[in-house]
Amino acid sequence: MDTCEQCGEKLVGARGCSYCEGTFCPHHQLPEKHDCPGVKNLDKTGDRFDSGFDGSP
Ligand SMILES: [Zn+2]
Ligand SMILES: [Zn+2]
Repeated sequence: MDTCEQCGEKLVGARGCSYCEGTFCPHHQLPEKHDCPGVKNLDKTGDRFDSGFDGSP
């Protein structure tokens, strides 16, 4: 079973982060919620934001 790398919550069918390949619960899945190392590259390189996340505005 996977666990959230941020809070340690046990996860079933975790999706993980598209950017850093970490595994996170829904609360920490967003890059900004786990200080994602991958999204920092995105900010620099521009627009690779696709539909990898729930909860987009
Ligand atoms: Zn979590
Ligand atoms: Zn990440």
